[in-house]
Amino acid sequence: MICSAGARFLLLLVSGVALALSACSPQQPAGTARFLAFGTLIDLTVIGVEDRAFDRISAAIQNDFAYMHKAWHAWDPGPLGRVNQLLPSGKPFAVPPSVLPLIETGKQLAEDSGHLFNPAIGRLIALWGFHSEEMDPGSLPSAEEVERLVRANPRMSDLIIEGIMLRCTNPAVQLDFGGLGKGYGIDLAIQHLRELGVENAIVNAGGDLRAIGSRDGHPWRIAIRSPTGSGVIGTLETRRDESVFTSGNYERYFTRGGKTYHHIIDPRTGYPARGVRSVTVVHREATVADAAATALFVAGPEHWHRIAQQLGIGFVLLVDEQGILHMNPAMAQRLQLLDPADHEIRLSPPLTAARTVSEPPRQAPLPTSGPAQEP
Ligand code: AMP
Ligand code: MG
Repeated sequence: MICSAGARFLLLLVSGVALALSACSPQQPAGTARFLAFGTLIDLTVIGVEDRAFDRISAAIQNDFAYMHKAWHAWDPGPLGRVNQLLPSGKPFAVPPSVLPLIETGKQLAEDSGHLFNPAIGRLIALWGFHSEEMDPGSLPSAEEVERLVRANPRMSDLIIEGIMLRCTNPAVQLDFGGLGKGYGIDLAIQHLRELGVENAIVNAGGDLRAIGSRDGHPWRIAIRSPTGSGVIGTLETRRDESVFTSGNYERYFTRGGKTYHHIIDPRTGYPARGVRSVTVVHREATVADAAATALFVAGPEHWHRIAQQLGIGFVLLVDEQGILHMNPAMAQRLQLLDPADHEIRLSPPLTAARTVSEPPRQAPLPTSGPAQEP
């Protein structure tokens, strides 16, 4: 059985936002639309535009998502599917313009995360059966198959970009942007909204979102998913322009022989990452927040802080397998837990390297070849 918690949570989140809206007397019109993309429900909320203008804006954004969904699907026929077909040959080919920026961004984020965020492990993800909306893997992958793919060490640094030409030096590389595409899509949607004159909006993909501006001068109040997948652990207010992304083991999983196998794979072992229930990241760009949530989930309770530093993240909440809440102090200051007494909290040292993706990394880049660094 595979389960998607996104839709369930969305209802809660929307009611959370609705609460925030009703708490302040609405002076500006609010338009809302809901549609399906990236296998999840997308909720668009725009403040301050009249109905007809909102209909036009909403149609444009839906169009964007339909295009991105088609272009970035890892296993359906389409531009990324075609790239994946051509990569193993090792020969250079012209990369579709819709896919190139995703590859470039993915390369940078993979490197900054010490390759814990690794969109080049598409073969491993397929092996676990997560390349299907409704999947039942039948049997578990054999240990030998997993080990063979881990040893082949597929990495984003195996991709060589020269102008519009791409070639791959490792036939094991298959691209899967499931851990990044939603964030990238939301950033593009926000950019498009701004170009259309929108200043106050939320683009929310099943609980992962970017919020800009405010609601009649009041900050957006965002519900943070509980690591059980249903319910809310707490809320926070966004500051002008921020994204909130959560990666959880409850999002996609199946059970075999009484054991649960979820969809976030540790590229070092080839198995679902262990030790974490969920990671929530707040960052300006949704792209970075999305990749970082996935990377910190893999990094686990011991190493998330270092990887967050490398990625330039300023706000993290990690819930470990025991239910302990790990946070940096700045996150602890912002997060309003629903039931603070119910949680054991471990505060980390401050995160000091927060940056936006357009700024250069503040640390020396990690090595791009050789075995994965054991964090
Ligand atoms: P997210 O929900 O953003 O954490 O993304 C999870 C999705 O990203 C999975 O369904 C896979 O498609 C893909 N994925 C799994 N493990 C990794 C990883 N270590 N690095 C990058 N993408 C991954
Ligand atoms: Mg992600």
